[in-house]
Amino acid sequence: MQSEIGHQNSQWRCRKCGTLLGVATGDEVEVRYKTAVYRVRGELATDCRKCGTANRLDTRHPRHERRCA
Ligand SMILES: [Zn+2]
Repeated sequence: MQSEIGHQNSQWRCRKCGTLLGVATGDEVEVRYKTAVYRVRGELATDCRKCGTANRLDTRHPRHERRCA
């Protein structure tokens, strides 16, 4: 079953070359490697498979910065 990329999903791309690293859905990120699909929650880091740049993502802190009261 293929998951569709809709407006609720945001693509996690390499900050250097733009290679797609995963797709964030809600507070999870779906990462595909060959035939396997991993769904990860929390903080993750990966090296881009193309350019080797280290990329980090924290699904608990989506785009919006948390404001400190
Ligand atoms: Zn890259």
